[in-house]
Amino acid sequence: MDSKLAAYITLVCTSAVLNLSILVYTYLRRHHYTNIANLFMWNTFTSMIYCFGYAFSLTSTSLEQLRFWNIVQYTGMPFFPPLGLLFVMQYLGYKLTRKRIIALLIMPCLTLLINVTNESHHMLYRIYDIHSVLGAPYSEIKYGVWFVVHNIYIFSCMFAAFLLLLSRWKETVSVYRPQLFALICGQLLPVVSAFLLFIGVTPDGIDPVPMVIWFSSALYLWSITSSRMLSIMPIAKETIFNNMNDGVIVLNDTYQLIEYNQACKNMFSELDRSTIGQPFDQVWYMLTGQSFPVQLDTISNKLNDTIHQADYIYQIRISMLQQSNNRSGLLIIFTDITELHTLQQKLEHQAYYDELTQIYNRRAFFQQSEQSLMKVKDTLSSFTIILFDIDFFKKVNDTYGHQTGDQILVHVAQICTAELGEHMLFARYGGEEFVLALTGYTLVEGENFANHLRLCIEQKPLVENDRFVSVTSSFGVSVTTGAMEETIYQLLQKADEALYAAKRAGRNQVQVFTEKQEFVE
Ligand code: GH3
Ligand code: MG
Ligand code: MG
Repeated sequence: MDSKLAAYITLVCTSAVLNLSILVYTYLRRHHYTNIANLFMWNTFTSMIYCFGYAFSLTSTSLEQLRFWNIVQYTGMPFFPPLGLLFVMQYLGYKLTRKRIIALLIMPCLTLLINVTNESHHMLYRIYDIHSVLGAPYSEIKYGVWFVVHNIYIFSCMFAAFLLLLSRWKETVSVYRPQLFALICGQLLPVVSAFLLFIGVTPDGIDPVPMVIWFSSALYLWSITSSRMLSIMPIAKETIFNNMNDGVIVLNDTYQLIEYNQACKNMFSELDRSTIGQPFDQVWYMLTGQSFPVQLDTISNKLNDTIHQADYIYQIRISMLQQSNNRSGLLIIFTDITELHTLQQKLEHQAYYDELTQIYNRRAFFQQSEQSLMKVKDTLSSFTIILFDIDFFKKVNDTYGHQTGDQILVHVAQICTAELGEHMLFARYGGEEFVLALTGYTLVEGENFANHLRLCIEQKPLVENDRFVSVTSSFGVSVTTGAMEETIYQLLQKADEALYAAKRAGRNQVQVFTEKQEFVE
């Protein structure tokens, strides 16, 4: 055996052994990896068979041995490029259907069959013989038509895988780029060698592909160990994209729709593939009958807004897709916040409304009346507070029960609400006390209105189980004008004093606050 041949065999054996180690390593650790490891192992297995077959063929001393090892090679060689392509497709998130897998593996099966039966048709090799000058194990081959077809096929598979990987380079985040780089080189090397063989510039009688496969395998091995290629990968982007709960629309830099996910399709049922490539504002109008609530060209980086679609509320977030400082498109993300929104509204309602009577509570009263009082101070008009308390309410509770007491409170609140005029704020002050803030009303107007409410309450008893429950109430009224520096608390204090006076004076009446009262107290 000459030294050149020994070097070839060493190289091919290195490839085979490396593939075998990767295979064993991956197999033993397969539970740590995702499904993609299966295809990776098949790919490695077939290239290993190819390498071993070729290594043994280089030790052949007869034509029979050469042919035998050639067929052994063909149980691996035609398969590893399509399996490599399938692996890359899965890595990049393409859906691998059974049909796609079978379709890609038909050709290598045919090639193997044609090789085994070559003697009867010579489609793969027109002549397959021992090299007339170099002797065994070198072969002298005249290729048949199928050899060309088969080579074009495996070349295309490797090249397609290479192009697919390359097309993802830009959008792949830097942490995954070493993986992608290893895969690209791993694919490119056999492509180049196969091409060199095909155009006949490699040493006579020698297949260079198994010699370089060790390098591809080494890259894969490095990738697996250093960047955990099979456990973390950018694959299944599409699966993730389509399984997201958020609806996502992708626009290019001229705001044409270029992609959407399944969640988005669920949100907007009329969204279909025909909308791809159309201007987004047109698509949006078709989907909702409205213009998009956010100006796309004024977005700096992200913006929050909401839309109502059918019975749902979606929060819109927009972020730019950036590629090395150049804006390359937009991501519009729709998050279903219907439940959150309902809860928020409920909480807001609970914070400002009285649970029993459903009128404003004390907190809402202070907040709103303070704002009204500020306005009054600006316009120098008057502002009246009416505070009233149901008379002998303990007795109502004692006589009719607490539940009826509650109903009386609801009833009184409803009576007053029905009588409210413009710029009147009405709230439950606490217990069976209610308060009104009348913006722009004088003391006399306030007193008259209080008397009007008093009569309404007195004259409209609660009808409950065929019985009438009537109550009366006592009112205290206080007033301020924009010129005076009084607070709501001071006004309430005065109204309370007047109310107290009304109680003392026999109840079911209205008292206005006067300085004398304060003096008497
Ligand atoms: P007065 O004429 O002096 O106001 O007599 P009153 O019995 O109404 O006396 P007071 O205002 O001190 O009593 C308030 C009573 O109202 C005490 C409490 O049991 C009752 N009350 C307070 N809040 C509620 C409520 O939400 N539901 C019911 N049913 N009763 C309440
Ligand atoms: Mg009271
Ligand atoms: Mg009372």
